[in-house]
Amino acid sequence: MQNWKPTDSLTGTLMEIRETDCERGTEKMEKTIEKKRKKEQAVVREMIFLYCRKKHRRSELCPSCRELLEYAQMRSECCPFMETKTFCSNCRVHCYKLQMREKIREVMAFSGPRMMLYHPVMAVWHAACSVREKRKMRND
Ligand SMILES: [Zn+2]
Repeated sequence: MQNWKPTDSLTGTLMEIRETDCERGTEKMEKTIEKKRKKEQAVVREMIFLYCRKKHRRSELCPSCRELLEYAQMRSECCPFMETKTFCSNCRVHCYKLQMREKIREVMAFSGPRMMLYHPVMAVWHAACSVREKRKMRND
């Protein structure tokens, strides 16, 4: 058992055990990913709301910021890289279309530092994730 490698020399029994373990692992992973996704969406949402409130002086989202929010949520919903990243801003695959990318960048630049003020817990979590993920990406 010491030299057992998951890729070869599997007996039927071991295979069975491994599959069950994998399934359980995947399920757990999926839950974590969903949590990340929801958290990302919440942070992005806060950032867009903050940006619009300060920049566009609206109490509700203006149509253009609403469009951006919907776009961002939709991208996050479809993101195939949730497992390896938390934030679209950390992602190496920039799936945003150009116009939206510029807009979200502006929102991030504006709201990012201000998140510390309004949502410190969220901001710290975001910063911690970003550092961790950027480090991980460099090591790839
Ligand atoms: Zn706006």
